[in-house]
Amino acid sequence: MAATSARVGGLNRPVALKVDVDTLRGTREGVPRLVELLCRLGVGGTFYFSLGPDHTGRALKRVFRRGFLGKVRRTNVAGHYGFRTLMYGVLLPGPNIGRRAGDVMRSVRAAGFEVGIHCYDHVRWQDGVAQASAAWTRREYQRATDAFAQVFGEPARSHAAAGWQINPHTLVLQTEAGLRYASDGRGPRPFWPVMSDVIGGCLQIPTTLPTFDELIGVEGRDADGAADEVLRLSRIDADAGHVFTLHAELEGQQLLPQFEKLLRAWLAEGRSVVALRDYAGSLDQASIGRGRIVMGEVPGRSGLLAVSGQATL
Ligand SMILES: [Zn+2]
Repeated sequence: MAATSARVGGLNRPVALKVDVDTLRGTREGVPRLVELLCRLGVGGTFYFSLGPDHTGRALKRVFRRGFLGKVRRTNVAGHYGFRTLMYGVLLPGPNIGRRAGDVMRSVRAAGFEVGIHCYDHVRWQDGVAQASAAWTRREYQRATDAFAQVFGEPARSHAAAGWQINPHTLVLQTEAGLRYASDGRGPRPFWPVMSDVIGGCLQIPTTLPTFDELIGVEGRDADGAADEVLRLSRIDADAGHVFTLHAELEGQQLLPQFEKLLRAWLAEGRSVVALRDYAGSLDQASIGRGRIVMGEVPGRSGLLAVSGQATL
């Protein structure tokens, strides 16, 4: 790795941590473990919560979708998520995560971490938003913002779409809501978004690195190999900064040791591990270009995700 002292807004080759929280179990069990780890290492991070019903069990229908079965085998979904979670919305009613675990969410903010909206109903958004109407999107988005305000007593300032799924209407809603930024997709660098014929007014800060679950089981990699690969990739374009997405259900539980190893490696290299708001604050927003969001494939993940293409305007 090239020795460099280049700094972006006072940060040293920053890595922003984006923690997606999908389930009640992940909120209650994975989140406190991650908070403990991040506090112990003195690093920042942003937690994106699923605020409404946990209908994870309905995601089982994805088993019938091409590509998902291989992922289930590779990543031991039942082991990570737990049998009970996989029944929510199928054989058991989906518990409301915001109502049942709002105290955990508030404790994350109280510990100094940034909090934002992941979704209201993860399965519903992930499976429905790509083809949804403006009215559907507004209703679901409003449910999430209302539930966030209910839990935290203040409006959300950022959004990270469930399953990296959005549509053009989402950009309108984020602009209306006056969000500071959103992290809805995958791509190499922050950009001002355009999707279809909608020009968004809310900065997009995409996830730049692959997730552990996209790497495990590919090319013979185990969880330690996945951590090594993320570290290797994070050294490319390091000065510009990276965004790494983890899940409370994975890195907060069975993959916690490998995640800690990765964090320690970043700190040993002197890198700033921060919340997205700190990374966003370090950017010279006037110099950021437009980029087009399209739905595209990402290695190791089934279906199509929001990915950013080249500047268009
Ligand atoms: Zn998620």
